[in-house]
Amino acid sequence: MSSRNQHGAHFLLLAKARTLKLRDVYAGGDDAAFKTFCELRWPETNGAPVCPKCGHEKAYNIETGRRFKCASPACYHKFSPTSGTIFASRKMAFVDILAAILIVANWQSGGGRTT
Ligand SMILES: [Zn+2]
Repeated sequence: MSSRNQHGAHFLLLAKARTLKLRDVYAGGDDAAFKTFCELRWPETNGAPVCPKCGHEKAYNIETGRRFKCASPACYHKFSPTSGTIFASRKMAFVDILAAILIVANWQSGGGRTT
């Protein structure tokens, strides 16, 4: 029960993203990157999906587990972790999405280092 979940465009927790290492992202593979992306997207629930449409904090895994379906009978909205983000319409591997996020996070911190 949190209204903070409505702000889908500001999901990037850059501080957390800065703690990631590019080589670890790629070494971990897409499953680990998917999990980490969910944790960045939904920090309030430790990565458990929150419906971007109604804010319901329970959702079912559908398809390959990379998409979710809202558990609210009034909604049943299907979504993925990238829904409502700049990555939504892109066919990108999660390792690449995560790499892009952490590069931007490090860049904005002024350090310029990504590894
Ligand atoms: Zn919903």
